[in-house]
Amino acid sequence: MAQDASISRSAPRTAIVTGGSRGIGRAIAVALGQAGARVVINYFASRDAALEAATEIEQAGGQAMTVQADVSSPDGRARMLEEAQGRFGAVDLLVNNAGIAPKVRADLLETSEESFDDLLATNLKGPFFLSQAVARQMIARRDQIDPAIAPAIINISSISAYTASVNRGEYCISKAGIAMMTQLFASRLAEHGINVYEVRPGVIATDMTGPVKAKYDKLILEDGLLPIRRWGQPSDVAKAVVAIAEGAFPYSTGQVLDVDGGFHIRRL
Ligand code: NAP
Repeated sequence: MAQDASISRSAPRTAIVTGGSRGIGRAIAVALGQAGARVVINYFASRDAALEAATEIEQAGGQAMTVQADVSSPDGRARMLEEAQGRFGAVDLLVNNAGIAPKVRADLLETSEESFDDLLATNLKGPFFLSQAVARQMIARRDQIDPAIAPAIINISSISAYTASVNRGEYCISKAGIAMMTQLFASRLAEHGINVYEVRPGVIATDMTGPVKAKYDKLILEDGLLPIRRWGQPSDVAKAVVAIAEGAFPYSTGQVLDVDGGFHIRRL
């Protein structure tokens, strides 16, 4: 039954984690692997880092593979799914994590079309069509997925889904799109027993936030930006994803899980 779904060595999940080579995605991939899932670690450019993540999973007794693919490319997405199925069979968990920040934090009045297109292609169009492809496969190959496992899709969005930053509007738009995408797929896939979740990280210490570390050090540690006065860690996000993957929320879909140190609380 779906409410008993859990990751176990006897009925392991097969999970794709996009952008699993670094940062949040890597923490998610390793945590899922350590929890017993077979993990497909997608990466774009960081081959060595992806292989390291796979090794970490294997050293803990788990199974992992790496796939180089650009999530913004139709061919890349199709190949990712094909390779995943070829090695591990039907995919029952997709974590849409891969994402990019704008190369330049440009004022809204200076945002270039190139940056807008790049951000939307990687952060929104890629996850949309990968979800579509994986969902079709989950429906078509339901008989190959262990009945104890509830297939799921988890989208990693951001506090930028609802926080207006006028120096990276294209990023905010891409993440707001992910929020609606979650609602859409959750509505459409419930009848097939597939739940869809949005995990919404706050400020997390990764390469992505490296260039703005000093700014956020001050905001978090001195100015009280967050009720929980520390940077988020990739492991904070990974724990939320593993809880969902273990079937902790069987009667929730389209749900947002804030992993943001309380940033979302409106305070006075
Ligand atoms: P990161 O450290 O920069 O890592 C990004 C990951 O995405 C890398 O594994 C990278 O792969 C992969 N990637 C980038 N473009 C790709 C593409 N076209 N195809 C496939 N993979 C691609 O970023 P992060 O901080 O971990 O962020 C992960 C996700 O969380 C993103 O969606 C981001 O928007 C979101 N998020 C981050 C924060 C934060 O504070 N860090 C907050 C909220 C939300 P390669 O290294 O192989 O290129």
